[in-house]
Amino acid sequence: MRQKIVAGNWKMNTTVPEGVELAKAVVAKSVEVPSDVKLVIATPATHLVPVADVVKGSVVALSAENCADKEKGAYTGEISAAMVASTGATYTILGHSERRQYYGETDEKLVEKTKLALANSLKVILCVGENLEEREAGKHFDVCAAQVKNVLYNFSAEDMKNIVIAYEPVWAIGTGKTATSEQAEEIHAFIRKVVADKFGAEVADDTTILYGGSCKPSNAKELFAQPDIDGGLIGGAALKADDFIAIAMSF
Ligand code: PEP
Repeated sequence: MRQKIVAGNWKMNTTVPEGVELAKAVVAKSVEVPSDVKLVIATPATHLVPVADVVKGSVVALSAENCADKEKGAYTGEISAAMVASTGATYTILGHSERRQYYGETDEKLVEKTKLALANSLKVILCVGENLEEREAGKHFDVCAAQVKNVLYNFSAEDMKNIVIAYEPVWAIGTGKTATSEQAEEIHAFIRKVVADKFGAEVADDTTILYGGSCKPSNAKELFAQPDIDGGLIGGAALKADDFIAIAMSF
């Protein structure tokens, strides 16, 4: 049985004290969430150390939103996978569309980042997804297949145990437009097949594939009821503990 996950991506929101309060609220409410749902919060890098303290001993796991594609050295402003792991975080998001779009994150860089994250015992939440133009041109299957293949086909079946895929149609992120559950299921099933083509049905069956893009308490139930949707990567709604927990209770 693959792991159900609801992961919050705080992006560049909250100061450190605000983030600590939000994490405390999530931890306090996490007791309501069924134990087969894994909760993850991805915070800005500045928040990792104090939030690690808050989530310690709880069911909430901590994630970074990114890590560097280099091991260490003269890369001013970057944060290595080893640094992330040393905070107590156990996950990192990689390849978020905002990083692909604004910070030149290529699939080649994502291969390096994924290698370093796994080498430092971090689990990876790899984001893939098409933009509006690609969706309208009917290229969404090709775009997602290429993103999955370009990165994940460089890894082993063993590595896949520590990799989660998040399908996030760029046109649905922060826009209030959610993919319909049919649109999301169709592409989740397709992504699972792309994983199966390389690693076999068993690995594909065990791979958690999250949906992200304006997921909220009012639409999570329908999305999570789909057979190939194993949870969500949540942006805006993760900034309110009540909404985040309501989403986690939507399976
Ligand atoms: C995200 O940034 O990963 C995301 C899904 O954002 P939102 O939920 O705000 O669309």
